[in-house]
Amino acid sequence: MSKEPIIILGAGLIGRLLALSCVKEGYQVTVYDQGASSVKGSAAYTAAAMLAPLAESVATENNIIEMGIYGLKRWPDMIKSLSKPVFFQQNGSLIVWHSHDQSLGKHFQSQLTKTQASFPSEFLYEKLDRAKLNQIEGEIDHRFREALYLPNEGQLDNRELLDALLEDAVRLGVQFYWESPKEINDFKDTSYFKLIDCRGLGAKKSLETLRGVRGEVIRVFAPEVNLKRPIRLLHPRYPIYIAPKDKQMFVIGATEIESEDNSEVSVRSALELLSAAFSLHSGFAEGRILEMNAQCRPSLPNNAPIIAKINERIFTINGLYRHGFMISPAILDAAMEMIFKNQSTLAQQFSIESALPYASHH
Ligand SMILES: Cc1cc2nc3c(=O)[nH]c(=O)nc-3n(C[C@H](O)[C@H](O)[C@H](O)COP(=O)(O)OP(=O)(O)OC[C@H]3O[C@@H](n4cnc5c(N)ncnc54)[C@H](O)[C@@H]3O)c2cc1C
Repeated sequence: MSKEPIIILGAGLIGRLLALSCVKEGYQVTVYDQGASSVKGSAAYTAAAMLAPLAESVATENNIIEMGIYGLKRWPDMIKSLSKPVFFQQNGSLIVWHSHDQSLGKHFQSQLTKTQASFPSEFLYEKLDRAKLNQIEGEIDHRFREALYLPNEGQLDNRELLDALLEDAVRLGVQFYWESPKEINDFKDTSYFKLIDCRGLGAKKSLETLRGVRGEVIRVFAPEVNLKRPIRLLHPRYPIYIAPKDKQMFVIGATEIESEDNSEVSVRSALELLSAAFSLHSGFAEGRILEMNAQCRPSLPNNAPIIAKINERIFTINGLYRHGFMISPAILDAAMEMIFKNQSTLAQQFSIESALPYASHH
């Protein structure tokens, strides 16, 4: 007997990952997205795609960190299984601060120490003095005299990943419909297929408590800059990061603003992001600004993800917030269990919320 058809709404990060997993399991998969195949309107297109559970642990719950650890282990194999190359590195990350912001460095370190106590075997970090910082990342401006080094953290190229997932999914027979916005209500008779809602912020009509958290990033080509790993600058007003991608490309981000405003990057944010990058490395002065992008992160009230059943045949996966790339291997594997086995030990292990956080109107 052939397997039941699967319909996926949204071809962003989680929609594409699921489409490929489902078609590999032998399901007949159809995907609808409201945008073109480049999905420029998705969070996944704009993201920096850092995989940084330890750095994120200073402001997140332990179950998200656990999913991030799982993700760091799963991504290399997931990427190897794709036909097209996707930039991935696990070269650690650095946290730096100006000497007059030493209290921020101390606070961050004390938070890391707490996380380390919960995950002693998984998390390492090292406090670096200037000499050690020179060995690891010598190009950082000499005014930065201390740093925290988190050697296990990683990152990938979001757009190469989106392309590679799409190409393999199409080759294996997934049918994509672009420029096709859908609501759950558009699918009346769900008795012969399963529907999985992966529309991120586009699911707002059926997920009342979903909100967008605005983030702005700038992509710069900077041939004079040779930073090797993501660097976070702790700053009282504008904490930023620089994520070096392939071919001298740098993603400088990201603001975090409680607003669903999706309009262009503001002058203030551009000034803050670029001057912070320049303060870390003067080589950014001659860089070329390739893009400035603003996009909202799909977020639920507690900033944690859900994999929930709307009914026996309709599922919703959402709330990936600022951690989509970091936690999506865990979300994907848990979702595959929930959708096709009706229960998931992984979802339990990671305390992934399965109840709808709202009254649904589908
Ligand atoms: C500035 C920024 C920086 C980030 N940095 C990181 C980072 O460093 N590390 C990390 O792990 N995460 C990061 N993220 C978070 C990550 O991008 C998101 O968590 C992730 O993309 C969410 O995946 P998703 O598939 O749920 O939603 P999306 O990727 O937004 O995809 C949703 C898709 O649904 C489609 N859609 C919407 N409405 C409809 C409709 N009605 N019908 C059909 N299709 C529809 C959209 O077009 C879109 O393609 C960042 C996000 C932003 C905005």
